[in-house]
Amino acid sequence: MSRLVFHPLTSEPILVAPERSERPGAWGQSGTASEACPFCPGNEEETPPEISRHVDGTAWRSRVVPNKYPALAPVDGVPSHEVLIDTPDHHSPLESRDVAGWIDMIGLWRERVESHAARRGIESVLVFRNEGRAAGQSITHPHSQLLALPFVPPRLEQESRAFASAGSCPLCAATASSSDATRLVVGARDGIAILCPSAPRLPYETWIVPESHEPDWRETKIEAMATAVRATVRALRARWPAAAFNLALATAPASEPKRGALHWHLEILPRLTNIAGFELATGAWMNIVEPGRAAAELRALLAL
Ligand SMILES: [Zn+2]
Ligand SMILES: [Zn+2]
Repeated sequence: MSRLVFHPLTSEPILVAPERSERPGAWGQSGTASEACPFCPGNEEETPPEISRHVDGTAWRSRVVPNKYPALAPVDGVPSHEVLIDTPDHHSPLESRDVAGWIDMIGLWRERVESHAARRGIESVLVFRNEGRAAGQSITHPHSQLLALPFVPPRLEQESRAFASAGSCPLCAATASSSDATRLVVGARDGIAILCPSAPRLPYETWIVPESHEPDWRETKIEAMATAVRATVRALRARWPAAAFNLALATAPASEPKRGALHWHLEILPRLTNIAGFELATGAWMNIVEPGRAAAELRALLAL
């Protein structure tokens, strides 16, 4: 059974999750290539019993199931690690989906976050997506994951501290139309900005950020968010056609949904380079691309 421990010297949370060692591809082997896809229609019995589904007539349009190899144990019998299968279509690459397809995906995220946010003992609800093997994807059928965490992620804690020490919000400053910031803005529409952060961890790292200070992403219109992230992923894939990437949503902890110290953002994290000894040894990052250059290249390819 998985358990949460804290590093004795740095206090970093670490999930020890032995069940995950049984997962296809856990040790780098080639996932489910020779087996039937457990997320395709007709193979529903391959997943644990379904949590919810949306239907079109008699066929399902999306399904939510507990992760068969959970990173977190259920709490009070409720699974804390879900798989969000947002399409029955095995071959539905994100960059070729229309806005309606993105709205379906983000709508499902929102529905599932709502259902976990009020649970006792849940401090934060994380939604993320792994696209491509280098980004940790083990099953190629399109899906996102949700983890209902019993702790606030260190990155969110750090962001709250950065806000407190600056006395104002660094992301509000980054989306403002000052001459220094606009260099890193890839585009903006309907109150949502697309920007390369000034100190990106990864080459072409890009964030979707509301232009006004919103701690909780659930207050943002889904269509504006879907349009912005779709355009960004298409620009990224136009620049790097095979790029693996992660999507990760940073939003106010479930335990304090109105905490003003956070400004939600959806991070698009391309996996073009490896995380190596420097990063693991120091907890710091080395990035081979200037964020201004990444923003200029993506801006030239953005169709918003
Ligand atoms: Zn499939
Ligand atoms: Zn802000």
